[in-house]
Amino acid sequence: MTAMDKLMSCALCPNICRFACPMEEVWATESSSPSGKARTALLLLQGQIPWNKENVKILYQCLTCWASNEPCPFEDLIIGDLLVEVRKEAVKRGVIIPEVAAIMDSLRKYDNPYGERRARVKAPLKEAELVYFPGCTAELREKEIISATIAVLQKAGVNAHVLKGLCCGWPALQMGDEESFLRLAKRIERALEACKGKVLLVGCPSCFEYLTKIYPERGIDLKVKVVHASTFFLNLLKDGKILVKAVRERVAYHDPCALGRKMGIYDEPREVLHSLGLQVVEPEKTREFATCCGGGGMVEKSLKVAQKRKKELLSTGAELFVTACPTCKMMFNKTKLEVQDLSELLAKSLE
Ligand code: SF4
Repeated sequence: MTAMDKLMSCALCPNICRFACPMEEVWATESSSPSGKARTALLLLQGQIPWNKENVKILYQCLTCWASNEPCPFEDLIIGDLLVEVRKEAVKRGVIIPEVAAIMDSLRKYDNPYGERRARVKAPLKEAELVYFPGCTAELREKEIISATIAVLQKAGVNAHVLKGLCCGWPALQMGDEESFLRLAKRIERALEACKGKVLLVGCPSCFEYLTKIYPERGIDLKVKVVHASTFFLNLLKDGKILVKAVRERVAYHDPCALGRKMGIYDEPREVLHSLGLQVVEPEKTREFATCCGGGGMVEKSLKVAQKRKKELLSTGAELFVTACPTCKMMFNKTKLEVQDLSELLAKSLE
């Protein structure tokens, strides 16, 4: 099926997946339902409705969380990804809504989506077999994740170069800005070449998805093995490189969409938690059915989605809440739910 065929199938479908879409729930409009968004996208591409900000705004009422994929009756139809392609057309035509314009502007000026200047990578870069790439959110919003990860690496006797000041390009492509994405990806490629790293340790699931899947799809070969922190930590524990004290508490684990649904990593973070002696309790919506934290959209009403997920996590009765994603942690912090990253819990449990 071509992208247009897929959009047509989604637009004509009686919205079988609508109950799974957190954006429809918070917007409470027909146009924000998965099929509703597909209809707007299709009509825009067919020239039946105008490319104006009111219509384009609907394209961004999607977190690209993939939750609607589970109940979707069509094979290989991912509405979130189709909408990103249509956002590119909106950007090409210069129809850019204010929230998106602010993120694009920040990425173009500062190489991050948060509108903050940060130190740029300076040559020469330290050569190291292991390169740790924390990503923009850990660097600018959740710095404790970086110190925790470094503490774990030091305890395990692993020497790593910490690669800061770069963005993987995920926010740019999400906004539909392919040009910025390619520029940011080029910078990552050049930095990794200079580091001569063999393994790239990544803490952010969206960076992990991009560096592992999206880059190769666009012919960008980083020539390194990319590993998410949860898998890396589990291997350190299995190899006996780090010893931990048991924490006897009940913990609820929140599956980040990019790590779970998009990359299929569900068991590794849970195994790390079990290794710490924790009792893992599951929210009603978990693993492939987990509700998004709202961080995937970076646009209006994302916080309402985080609040919905907060309630689901609290209903487990757990004493601790853990995730494996800086953006999920940041979103839950905004709702005043204290959620730790896996790295932080692990660092605190080190013998
Ligand atoms: S990807 Fe997520 S936000 Fe987008 S339509 Fe599907 S469920 Fe809704």
